[in-house]
Amino acid sequence: MKAIRIHGPKDARYEEVPMPKPGPDDVLVRIRATGICATDIELYDGTMFYITNGMTRRPFIPGHEWSGDVIELGANALEFSLGDRVVGECSIGCRQCAYCRRGWYHLCPDRGETGFLKQAGAFAEYVAFPRFFLHKCDGLAYDSAAFIEPTGVALNPTRQTRVSPEDYVAVMGPGPIGLFAVQTAKAYGARKVILAGRSDGRLAVGKQLGADATINVKTENLVEKVREATAGHMIDVVIEAAGKKEVWPDIVSILAPRARIGMTGLFAGAKCEVDFDPLVVNEVQLFGCLGGPSLWPEAISLHQSGKVTAAPLITHRLPLADFAKGIEISRNRVQNAIKVVLQP
Ligand SMILES: [Zn+2]
Ligand SMILES: [Zn+2]
Repeated sequence: MKAIRIHGPKDARYEEVPMPKPGPDDVLVRIRATGICATDIELYDGTMFYITNGMTRRPFIPGHEWSGDVIELGANALEFSLGDRVVGECSIGCRQCAYCRRGWYHLCPDRGETGFLKQAGAFAEYVAFPRFFLHKCDGLAYDSAAFIEPTGVALNPTRQTRVSPEDYVAVMGPGPIGLFAVQTAKAYGARKVILAGRSDGRLAVGKQLGADATINVKTENLVEKVREATAGHMIDVVIEAAGKKEVWPDIVSILAPRARIGMTGLFAGAKCEVDFDPLVVNEVQLFGCLGGPSLWPEAISLHQSGKVTAAPLITHRLPLADFAKGIEISRNRVQNAIKVVLQP
């Protein structure tokens, strides 16, 4: 089969590789759509943590936001049928350790990560995938289904911070995760969702997806705008999806007492100065949110019911062979790119 394999920094080849063989607990999937994510850019550049610390060995097939059709079943994969439309998870836990047994398979010390650790990714024509981490997603378009993964990432802070109808929610960062978080917070009944960021184009997409207000932090006064939008109440829940250290003082400046903060961004080691006193006296709660463990069925039903959509985020579609081109479109936001989808 044809696949994209990363051989070195900025060295991704579209080449012939052996056809994967499903084991008894695997399903063979024909890939239909795979999204390019910021992690794929880091994997391509060779800067991603798992590569720099030696855990990911090249060459490997990347791709963790994908959808496809079941074309072959392992002997034990009785819950699937040929032709099922499916999506697969990123974290593949061992299913035995203390973390896996508590449902925290994304923290499993022996886990695989689709597209860079143990589990081959989906920038390929086919993938053999463990049935335990595979979900049916009937009725979804292939390219929408490819974005169940980032939807789960946005759902995680929405859940952990317990967004409810009395909450004013601020989403910091209008990238793909922020744009899904606007929708998941609305789906959870948030009183108002305010999206803050630096790109007018992306803020406009946020508005289209249901944000009640948008704030360009470069050109507008964040605190004043939030005060206006919340009738002076300020923010009950912050969903952080920027991953830039400049966001921390912004977050602290808009909190209401007892605010909850769900953080999804990775800061590449950047340190922020923290004044703890306002956090303590206001009983602020902080949640680190990694991936979307156990949230895939919910993310799928949010798409199936139309409460969440990926359509306005998908700006580019390319053939699989154009991986490197897709990476540069994504990195440089060519033609206001948000999400690039590759199709084998
Ligand atoms: Zn991703
Ligand atoms: Zn485990």
